[in-house]
Amino acid sequence: MNQEAKKPAKLQAVKGMNDFFAEEAGLLQALEAKLHGWLASYGYRNVRTPVLEQTALFRRGIGEVTDIVEKEMFSFTDRLNGDELTMRPEFTAGIVRAVVEHSLLYNGPQRVFSMGPVFRHERPQRGRYRQFHQIDVEALGFAGPDVDAELIVMLKRLWDDLGLTDVRLEINTLGSPAERAAHRDALITYFESHADLLDEDAKRRLHSNPLRILDTKNPAMQAMVNAAPRLDQHLGDESRAHFEELQAYLRDAGIAYTINPRLVRGLDYYNLTVFEWITDQLGAQGTICGGGRYDGLIELFGGKSEPAVGFAIGVERLIDLVKQSGAVNGASRCDVYVVHQGTRPEAARYAFGLAEQMRSTGLEVILHCGGGSFKSQMKKADGSGAEFAVIIGDDELAAQEATLKPLRGDAPQERVKAAALAARLIEQFPEQLPEQITEQPES
Ligand code: ATP
Ligand code: MG
Repeated sequence: MNQEAKKPAKLQAVKGMNDFFAEEAGLLQALEAKLHGWLASYGYRNVRTPVLEQTALFRRGIGEVTDIVEKEMFSFTDRLNGDELTMRPEFTAGIVRAVVEHSLLYNGPQRVFSMGPVFRHERPQRGRYRQFHQIDVEALGFAGPDVDAELIVMLKRLWDDLGLTDVRLEINTLGSPAERAAHRDALITYFESHADLLDEDAKRRLHSNPLRILDTKNPAMQAMVNAAPRLDQHLGDESRAHFEELQAYLRDAGIAYTINPRLVRGLDYYNLTVFEWITDQLGAQGTICGGGRYDGLIELFGGKSEPAVGFAIGVERLIDLVKQSGAVNGASRCDVYVVHQGTRPEAARYAFGLAEQMRSTGLEVILHCGGGSFKSQMKKADGSGAEFAVIIGDDELAAQEATLKPLRGDAPQERVKAAALAARLIEQFPEQLPEQITEQPES
């Protein structure tokens, strides 16, 4: 019998679900920091809803006959109590559920945002994953079109801030539910007269969601679909005015756009304004942001009828673009790396205490742990991106001092009293001055 313990097999992440680490995690973190400033500058406040919701929420909110509900949801029955649950495939349904559940519109309209993972069971490829991340922004209780324009303009500002130049805007209007119904009837009649050209998907959707047939990627159906009746032939004055006004705002803001009458978006709840931002730099998965108005959804979830509009950005696709633009730096760095190599254990504890003392002043400090030669520790210090190494040896310990060695540039190293070390370092990081030491003038 083989008594030797077998090495346990390695486990792998779930297919289509990614780990973020090193530079990429840093980039994500730096991007998030930028996004928070951008969202705050337009008055958007954070909401966080659960990743798991009742399956019924998405069926009702997104629509039964959509790609997401038909084939992309991670749904399961909770084996402990039989609940039907789904990992959120998008944010809007959960946010609207929360808004209705907590009567958040009682005090007037709300601008909110959320960021985090969403889940869709799709075929993994570049820009398409089973767990991906969205930045979701919703303006609830606003009828627009001013706020529709605000959302689009704020996105343009983001692309500019991130140095993205190759992103173009497509817009469309989906009209009112009544106008869509009239268009829908016209579409069904038209598709029925071309039944021989419809593929299986299209046949199934003919009566349940004929609008989605317009979204087909089947080349054999393109010509027929291109000649289908268009919604703009069914639009009334109000819908037209909304769309015209939106465009006036965009023109004032100097934002280029094209009207794409085929843009319908893959979810049922949209009406009036819909838009997408698209790039050619990501291959086949070129849509980095999609959004639109969903004036009926709040009422559909049992709330008082309120208009709303929002968008979602795909974070993985955005990161891919940001990597190309180089506008956000994901490299990790700290201010100070503490190197210590005393012959007495007290040197290590002295270094430990000094690191804590420096952190108390707001400095970012890595303390070398685990020993190693002076040379290898200095190599680590350099690799950390730190501006300074603080070096501790027996001499420094005995004198209650530290050696401060600049790691970038060629300024000489100096010996500093332990009590003065943090202050001496703070002088070197002027960007940290305002909060740290500047005294507020008395008023
Ligand atoms: P697509 O047409 O690419 O499938 P979608 O219409 O399904 O996109 P939305 O529901 O509008 O996408 O989601 C908003 C954004 O989330 C998209 O514009 C895209 O950037 C991103 N996104 C959607 N699905 C995925 C995915 N599977 N993996 C990574 N990002 C995605
Ligand atoms: Mg999709």
